[in-house]
Amino acid sequence: MSVVAEVAGTLTRLRAEVSALHAHLPAYGLVVWTAGNVSARVPGHDLMVIKPSGVHYAELTPENMVVCDLDGRVVEGEHAPSSDTEAQAYVYRKMPEVGGVVHTHSPYAVAWAARAEPIPCVTTMCADEFGGPIPVGPFAMIGDDSIGRGIVETLRGSRSPAVLMQNHGVFSIGPTAESAVKAAVMCEDVARTVHLAQQLGRPVPIEQASVDRLFDRYQNVYGQR
Ligand SMILES: [Zn+2]
Repeated sequence: MSVVAEVAGTLTRLRAEVSALHAHLPAYGLVVWTAGNVSARVPGHDLMVIKPSGVHYAELTPENMVVCDLDGRVVEGEHAPSSDTEAQAYVYRKMPEVGGVVHTHSPYAVAWAARAEPIPCVTTMCADEFGGPIPVGPFAMIGDDSIGRGIVETLRGSRSPAVLMQNHGVFSIGPTAESAVKAAVMCEDVARTVHLAQQLGRPVPIEQASVDRLFDRYQNVYGQR
């Protein structure tokens, strides 16, 4: 029995989940044309489900999602996988706690990335979701491990589930694909709000002790129990 047959039920569920999660990217204004993508790890297997390359958002279906191994090779699917597959596969290889990865070129976040400037933690929402500033990762060329390395080097040991890759865009991670999508949405919202605040004057930083308390509360207490 092939590995794919063994996980057929899980793949059916993840294909539907990853396909559906892509609707959030255009809905929240995070992507244009076919840029951007969501992927999910297949738990317990060295596999991931990711968007096909160059397919429009309205045409995404569970069936045209692509299953790759964690070296980025296609295991199941008719289409070529997203050009960010290498980078995301690298993250799954090096960060076993990560279950989902999202990439966007959302405009306000990219405006910070283009200046290689971390987004300072000046709103409670930023403290809640990111636990501090949203960090900048190195400039990296597409097509090999360098984007993946930059993401892992920046996010390993950081509270932030999102990194602004310099001159490029946002990569976000989470225990699930949905949580990584949420981090991408929140990253763009924080990027926009802090940009607006800076146009009006100097944003006031939040004391570290308060950032710590907000982060702890939001991560451990907030929401439906
Ligand atoms: Zn990109």
